Amino acid sequence: MPEQQPLVLIVEDDSQLRQYLTTTLRSHGFKVAEATTWEEGRSLALQLAPDVVLLDLGLPDGDGLSLARELRGASRVPIIVVSARGREEDKILALDMGADDYITKPFGSGELLARIRVALRHSVDPAAPPPSVVEVGGLRMDFLMREVTLNQKPVRLTKNEFDLLAVLIRHAGQVLTNGQLLQEVWGETSKAHATYVRIYMRSLRKKLEADPTRPRLLLTELGIGYRLKPELDSQSE
Ligand code: CA
Repeated sequence: MPEQQPLVLIVEDDSQLRQYLTTTLRSHGFKVAEATTWEEGRSLALQLAPDVVLLDLGLPDGDGLSLARELRGASRVPIIVVSARGREEDKILALDMGADDYITKPFGSGELLARIRVALRHSVDPAAPPPSVVEVGGLRMDFLMREVTLNQKPVRLTKNEFDLLAVLIRHAGQVLTNGQLLQEVWGETSKAHATYVRIYMRSLRKKLEADPTRPRLLLTELGIGYRLKPELDSQSE
C-alpha cells in the first residue's frame, strides 16, 4: 500500500452492499466515500477526485451507464462497474463507454481488491510514454523489437497475433470487449469481423497455453471479451 491511502468512491444505492464494500475497503487500507444516487455520485466524483470509482448501474435517479460516460468526459479516474449477473449488454456498453472493468455480484473481497489494484496500477500519468517492454508472469513482450518470449523461449507470432497480444498485455488484468479489441487491432468495430478476435485468440492460445482448451493466461470473459491474467492475484489474498 502506498503511503497515501487511495480514495475509493462507491456509488451504490443498495445499503447492504455499500456497507460491505466500505467495510472491506477500509479494513484493507483504503479511504472510502459513499454516494447513493446518480447526482451525488457525479458531484462527489468531481469534488473529491477519487482514485477509483465503484459504480452500480441501477441507480434510483439515473442510469449508471450515463454516469460512466459523464465521468469519463470529465476525468481519467478508473471506473469499475458493479453489475448483476446476466446483463452482458450493459457490461459491454459500460466498457465501451469508458469504464475500465466490471465486477459481477456476488463477489468476494479477494476479487474486489484484485480488480481495484489492477485499476490503480493502470491509472498512470497519461503523458508518460508506454513502456517498451512488458512482462507478465513468464510472458515478455518487447514492443520495439517486436519480440515475444515465454519462459525465455522465443515465440513466433504473426503481425495480428502480436498486435492483439500487445493490447491484452498492456491492459493486463483488465477486461477488453470484442469491440475494443477489434478497434485496437483492426481499426474497425463491424460485428461482421467479430470472428477475427476469436480466430486470432485461438491461435495465440495454441502458441502460449500449455492446454489451449483450458487457458490460464488468455481468459475468456463469457459474452464480453477477453482478459489477460495479471501475475499478482488470488494467492496473495
Ligand atoms: Ca442499484
